Amino acid sequence: METPGSQSSLHRANLERVVRAVRLAGSLTQAEIARTTGLSAATVSNIVRELKDGGTVEVTPTSAGGRRARSVSLSGDAGIVIGVDFGHTHLRVAVGNLAHQVLAEESEPLDVDASAAQGFDRAEELVSRLIAATGVDRSKIAGVGLGVPGPIDVESGTLGSTAILPGWTGARPAEELRGRLGVPVHVDNDANLGALGEMVWGSGRGVKDLAYIKVASGVGAGLVIDGKIYRGPGGTAGEIGHITLDESGPVCRCGNRGCLETFAAARYVLPLLQSSHGTDLTMDGVVRLARDGDPGCRRVIADVGRHIGSGVANLCNLLNPSRVVLGGDLAEAGELVLGPIRESVGRYAIPSAARQLSVLPGALGGRAEVLGALALALSEMGDSTLLDGSLSAVAPAFT
Ligand SMILES: [Zn+2]
Repeated sequence: METPGSQSSLHRANLERVVRAVRLAGSLTQAEIARTTGLSAATVSNIVRELKDGGTVEVTPTSAGGRRARSVSLSGDAGIVIGVDFGHTHLRVAVGNLAHQVLAEESEPLDVDASAAQGFDRAEELVSRLIAATGVDRSKIAGVGLGVPGPIDVESGTLGSTAILPGWTGARPAEELRGRLGVPVHVDNDANLGALGEMVWGSGRGVKDLAYIKVASGVGAGLVIDGKIYRGPGGTAGEIGHITLDESGPVCRCGNRGCLETFAAARYVLPLLQSSHGTDLTMDGVVRLARDGDPGCRRVIADVGRHIGSGVANLCNLLNPSRVVLGGDLAEAGELVLGPIRESVGRYAIPSAARQLSVLPGALGGRAEVLGALALALSEMGDSTLLDGSLSAVAPAFT
């Protein structure tokens, strides 16, 4: 047993701090590791050498600010993580290594709402196929991140809102997938994973206070506060779509009237264009037409942007984020939607709450959630398993 405060336990704690910093960021220069962990440059240098000799990390030459530097990442063959993302109409799976490289990724159409059991069957199949394709041994799986399109109750692990996913009533998604794969599974809703994905891999890199707003069949937000996803006890934090904009507005699926969602989500916005543009228009199509200069579609996208901007202004006043990242199909509209969002924020937010805010489109498109699931698996795995080389002891191979 190591005595707390002893030289060896201090050394061990430093090793874990360095491994954790690299695990969460993907790769860091030694100077960045020193900044992140608060350790001295000399200590970091010694620890990196020890980790490299033990095969835990890889060091490659790079340049930082025009100067030669050494980039440190976890060893690519130390283990793998798996991301599984259930959308309303698709299933997407990615396999990545601990150095944040995606080794395999595939998406297939799936009516997720229909049946949870069928969804898990398909996920199990796709995971098995992708692992086989990468040729990595299953004993190397460190964990799975799982995304579902609804709020997850943090205590019980059950899906909170059955109105959104009727076929999933009572489902415990993490437990279900853990039973099938035999490895640790961590679950979160799609908006939170989108936020995590953009923070680790995309438009939110290097930012500690961020909101990821996804406009699709609904409007949701993933909130990152001081570097951590904020979920709330019922997993419902970030329901920006149900901020009231007009209390005599259209009736929302939540039962209220005039929620932001009723001015921004596809099901409410598309009917506005039906008489002029036909009934088989999709949000994707509206964005494309708007980019080609269609005045009606441009007007609708601008109005959606103004309304989202009102919601973002409220968010700024409450949380003062430094970045808002817009995800989903709508982000493809670029300045056509981002301009009106910024305009509303300028009009409705307290100036000091929005001064440092940048509003950017997501960099990952439809991959944000599955990459966020990889990031979740990476953030939840422990460092002791890596340092002791006993990954297979906590994550037994499944058959
Ligand atoms: Zn509502």
